[in-house]
Amino acid sequence: MPIVAGLAAKALDSLSSEDISFLQDLPKAELHAHLNGSIPVATLLELVNAHSTHNSESDLAPDILTRIENLESGVPLADISDFFPLFGAIYALTSTPDALATATRAVLEDFLCPPPQNPNGAPQCQYLELRTTPRSTQYMSRRKYLTTVLSEIEKFSNAALIVCIDRRMSVSDVIECVDLAIELRGQGRRVVGLDLCGDPNKGDIELFKPHFSKGKAAGLGVTLHIAETNSNTVSESIALLNWRPDRLGHATFLSDDVKSQFFADIPQSEAAPATSASTDYSSSDHPLHAEFMTEYSLQLARIQRKSTVDAEGRAMLSSHLDVDKGARRAAQKALYEREKEVSRSRYKPCIEICLTSNLLCKTVSSLDTHHIRYYLKNDHPVAICTDDTLPFRTSLIAEYALLLAERPLGLGLSRAEVARLAQMAMDARFRA
Ligand SMILES: [Zn+2]
Repeated sequence: MPIVAGLAAKALDSLSSEDISFLQDLPKAELHAHLNGSIPVATLLELVNAHSTHNSESDLAPDILTRIENLESGVPLADISDFFPLFGAIYALTSTPDALATATRAVLEDFLCPPPQNPNGAPQCQYLELRTTPRSTQYMSRRKYLTTVLSEIEKFSNAALIVCIDRRMSVSDVIECVDLAIELRGQGRRVVGLDLCGDPNKGDIELFKPHFSKGKAAGLGVTLHIAETNSNTVSESIALLNWRPDRLGHATFLSDDVKSQFFADIPQSEAAPATSASTDYSSSDHPLHAEFMTEYSLQLARIQRKSTVDAEGRAMLSSHLDVDKGARRAAQKALYEREKEVSRSRYKPCIEICLTSNLLCKTVSSLDTHHIRYYLKNDHPVAICTDDTLPFRTSLIAEYALLLAERPLGLGLSRAEVARLAQMAMDARFRA
């Protein structure tokens, strides 16, 4: 079990033993866990020792042991940025296939096995989708990286891999990673999805779009870190939502307008239009051009027929400059209405919610103002996840404790509501 400290620990401590048993027994799915941010402290210390034995000239920062030991002893981080130097060290520590396999095995056991000190106890979760960005190092290629991680994952029947695409990658790197994910899946390996991650302010996401579409067409689920910071723009969120991802990571700063434009959360009458009425479907560049032409011919025939039989038809003709213009307008409107209906009536991508991560990264100021409240109110699927158990010093059970604990320590949900959220996460698993 990971070390749990801070708000999540307080929430956990506030619960009765019955509540804790309820959370432990609840079947849970962890869908948003980064491999390198979830390595148990004891395993990191083991890797530091092994690294020092094999490298006479250590490339690790001199204070790395102190930093790791601080995490273990629960020394509070002044700021989450205190943790970032550790990521460089973790990458150095997992740069060989052996070390990567050790780290992956430890993360899988940490999530999916009972704690070593309590063999009859409950694991953190019953299903895990672990995500990682394939790295090439001087000791391994990206392919070797992925097959090493997969070989460990496949030792568990209830674990799967999501391949992360970092926003800082070049297009050729993106192509290599997506093609590897597709190829390995095609070979029957347990790759279930693609994720867009990394520095939220970097990268030209439009260049990535065709590659995510290719992955989707090959059967991979798609999840995107979206609107993670307040510097992510509305136009970027709209562009990413137009990829129709299956799940969204964080979605902290999605504006109400964007939510009402895309999600089936608000009664239709209150909704903002899904697309602008001025969208030019008649342009041959528009993806719905063929449908426009069909709709246009139908409208043209209808107006021509009507104009010969009744006054309304003749009025329709005279209100437009000509029959053609009227038919174009009518076709445009019909398509617009249909597109709006389709986009809003069905689309409810599951939101991966990481409460402690958001609070510690200060993208959310309190549980009271957390965006999960919007999704709960609108019966929109969410999955409670940890993001990175190591720096955020949390566990999946502790994140669920934040749901169940009374306010202000938690969200004060009932057991039935918490059970429902757990089921939502199970339902949002990607297909193997
Ligand atoms: Zn994440």
